[in-house]
Amino acid sequence: MQNFTLLDGKKVANSVKAELLSEMNQFQQKWGRKPSLHVVLVGEDPASKIYVGHKEKMAAELGYQSQVWRVPAEITQKDLELHLQKLIADPLVDGILVQLPLPKSLNTDRIMQMIPFDKDVDGLTATALGALAAGSAPAVSCTPAGVMEILKYYKIDVKGKNAVVVGRSQIVGKPMALLLLNADATVTVCHSRTTDVRSFTQNADIVVVAAGKKHLLSADDFKEGAVVIDVGMHRDEHNKLQGDVNPAGIEKRVAAATPVPGGVGPMTIMMLMKNTLRLAEFRLKNGQ
Ligand code: NAP
Repeated sequence: MQNFTLLDGKKVANSVKAELLSEMNQFQQKWGRKPSLHVVLVGEDPASKIYVGHKEKMAAELGYQSQVWRVPAEITQKDLELHLQKLIADPLVDGILVQLPLPKSLNTDRIMQMIPFDKDVDGLTATALGALAAGSAPAVSCTPAGVMEILKYYKIDVKGKNAVVVGRSQIVGKPMALLLLNADATVTVCHSRTTDVRSFTQNADIVVVAAGKKHLLSADDFKEGAVVIDVGMHRDEHNKLQGDVNPAGIEKRVAAATPVPGGVGPMTIMMLMKNTLRLAEFRLKNGQ
């Protein structure tokens, strides 16, 4: 039986955190200020409030300047756009994050596309995705960027490998496929209209599953010795987190896999912090 490696996202996130703490010192010495993250939270969505709280806490732990703008759900489109325009124009604002979902009364697309790519800390705008497609972007969508960090940490070379991404969302699947392609993997993207997803995953060296369907794939759906990254996150009836991959017997089949929880999840917030620092450096180096 082959060796199995559990790809521990908490360990990788801690290692990125240590790097960021040391980079923060250098940043402050060089530029005489801290990188800044501005989060806009509209309304009282309980899950959004929790996520924003985690981001605020992590930014504080790293010594960033962070500000959460809590605005009422009744804010008009015009007023929210005016608020964003102020943040966009402020040279001391490095990263802007609008916490989604926004209340239905607001035009989410219009709000998101206002954010310039050099302040788009989530890498979610069309410009950021376009820059990634063109080869590089100062900030890449946090979850797929976190997957690449996990692969790098465990020295899993993707060059020349046959990689399959299951899912094609703008936030995970598409940027994930572009990152793997930019790293010289041969990439196939599967989605809900793909006929026989398993025929692709069973031949892949690396599979990233981001379909949002609990236990969509199981051990037998992967090639022996493959690397499996599970992005999925679902609460089951016992309030336990489950992934898109059924973990039963996975360690006997594949060479490495991420657990849920404790795999991709802990990376996402850390990549948000890394993006903030990268955007601050990018704009300061470009004289802004
Ligand atoms: P999403 O927007 O719902 O996209 C899901 C994608 O999977 C779509 O492209 C869809 O295809 C495809 N899909 C659905 N059913 C499929 C099937 N049976 N076979 C093949 N493809 C299928 O979801 P998302 O935002 O990308 O998120 C995906 C999962 O990752 C969710 O469970 C989410 O909770 C989780 N997530 C985790 C983190 C984290 O930090 N760990 C961050 C973000 C997301 P179509 O395009 O054809 O509809």
